[in-house]
Amino acid sequence: MADIGRKIRDYLTVPGTDVVLPLTRVDGIMAGPTLLVTAGVHGGEYAPIEAAIRFASALEAERIKGQVLVVHLTNPLSFFAKSQYVVPRDGKNLNRVFPGVANGTVSERIAFAISRLASTADYWVDMHAGDIHEALVPFVIFSDQGDPRVVSRSKAMAQIYGIDYILQSAAIGGGTYAAGARMGIPSILAEAGQLAQVDEGAVTTHLRGLENVLRYLEMVAEKLDSVSQSHILHQFAWVDSPATGLFYRSIQAGDVVRVGVVAGVVRNPFGDIIEEIRVPQDGVVLFVVTSLAINAGEPLFAVASP
Ligand SMILES: [Zn+2]
Repeated sequence: MADIGRKIRDYLTVPGTDVVLPLTRVDGIMAGPTLLVTAGVHGGEYAPIEAAIRFASALEAERIKGQVLVVHLTNPLSFFAKSQYVVPRDGKNLNRVFPGVANGTVSERIAFAISRLASTADYWVDMHAGDIHEALVPFVIFSDQGDPRVVSRSKAMAQIYGIDYILQSAAIGGGTYAAGARMGIPSILAEAGQLAQVDEGAVTTHLRGLENVLRYLEMVAEKLDSVSQSHILHQFAWVDSPATGLFYRSIQAGDVVRVGVVAGVVRNPFGDIIEEIRVPQDGVVLFVVTSLAINAGEPLFAVASP
């Protein structure tokens, strides 16, 4: 560790592709842990990207113990294509292909390059939001699988991020936080923001969360901010559309709903109902799709409960 702090702007190259990822490296003035922060794994999730840019810009090496790595834009291919969910070049969801493949498709190679970077870190915060057509209430996910010490540190990071809903999950296959946990790196995936907006409230939520993670890891001198009691959720039901058509939702993000309630209907272009979608369990609606157009197999909404 350098005895004089420094901040470097760099690009992480993704071998075998033309993709380069904007990266800020901050070496603090004293030894300490390495924190990796990633944003824009989904390119249409703007509030986290803006939060990463501001967080990196404001970091001062002089006040940091250890090292902070910020990848501002993890998925520039989706970002500049304004593509929801998938990387247009290979049709893959980047957050389903971690830890990636060295000689795979472009998404798998990006995931592999990020996983290699993560392997140099001690902690990982991956910031997300509702995608371009997703309304979302903020929540944080961590994996409850694997080394109990990793699980407990991931849980502690989730609890101090300042978001009420915390999802303790067996992990979505191929997600960043699950890959991090499997590498023995305490990791969280924090969701705040929605609908392709650079929403100031959501940007602030992420910035406060990141600052409190630095405090929790004792990478800065300031005392941990106390946060209000969070709700830990374990049961997570994700509902995909059974049909292609027009989706008319009757639930909102943040609604507390009961099992069996109609969440929405899918109509054909003549206006006839072709599917009625019901809530599969009691819980809170974490996100719901807002686009009228829906394809069979695409996510409609998710409900989580204790
Ligand atoms: Zn996302």
